[in-house]
Amino acid sequence: MSEIHRIELPTLFGMKTVNAYLLKGDEVVLIDSGENTDASYAALKSGLKEQGLVINDVDRIIITHAHVDHMGMAQRIGSEANARVWVSELVKDWAINPDEMWSIREKLMLPTLLSFFDPNLSDLIKQGYEEMMGDVKKVWEPISEDLLDIYESDGQLDINDTRWQCVYMPGHSSSQSTFFNPLNGDYISADMLLRITPTPVIEPSREDMTKRNKGILEMMDSYERLLRFDIKKVYPGHYEIFENAHDVINRQVTRIDERTKHCYELIKSGQSSFIDIFNALYEGRFHMPAMIMLIGYLDRLENAGVIKYEIRDGYQQIFANS
Ligand SMILES: [Zn+2]
Repeated sequence: MSEIHRIELPTLFGMKTVNAYLLKGDEVVLIDSGENTDASYAALKSGLKEQGLVINDVDRIIITHAHVDHMGMAQRIGSEANARVWVSELVKDWAINPDEMWSIREKLMLPTLLSFFDPNLSDLIKQGYEEMMGDVKKVWEPISEDLLDIYESDGQLDINDTRWQCVYMPGHSSSQSTFFNPLNGDYISADMLLRITPTPVIEPSREDMTKRNKGILEMMDSYERLLRFDIKKVYPGHYEIFENAHDVINRQVTRIDERTKHCYELIKSGQSSFIDIFNALYEGRFHMPAMIMLIGYLDRLENAGVIKYEIRDGYQQIFANS
């Protein structure tokens, strides 16, 4: 069985680095590609060099999900190395036309955030949003269709002598596939399982692109399914490789449950504005990913039928159902 080598690449976004994984054998395979920047290219080159390889040796790049830090550089590597780029059917549109897909997503993200705030705070929110998202499009190159191959998001993938099970794990992203090796318990988890809790990012729903999905509900379901796999070693999309998968899952699920409950207590005690609930939960640290997490807690409470929204003073406020 071929060894899996982690190559850490820089990202412009909050996580600071993102992992590409090198699977060496008859075929040289990369899982994820990083962003299209010179710094990322240089880091990939030196990571490959440590394994006695050059960019040109890459035969295949397999993408886990349609986020720029995981696929922005796939075209550059693919065309230079004459490598095939494998994406799932859920990532295909993003691969070919990231600008258009991104525009659809962007039309939902900022308005969703703004809907929770007093219009007086709009500028602050816009600024935080821009700091978080930066210039996504600049580091995300479309992949030409003739380089693409499609794998089934819930199918299987043969890489060298190993048959990996593709496990569809929505939540952080609705296009996310992960890869499990049932023979040794290796799990390439993308951003489903990291040392830190992944955020259920705001995305268009698959059924209706004009509405946002409620990623947290899918994420909780994905965690539950994940517990059924006998995972020995996790190769996450960010940060170090780790082994205690079930502990990490249980800790993250417990934390999300606690936070959701805390959020509900605050609403029951009369906190009705998002910013007040946020400040009580996070002690006022203005932090975009935490805001997205809080939207997730509210989605869970709304889904459970215990809260409702009402527009007051020009924005969405939150109340407990009696
Ligand atoms: Zn990521």
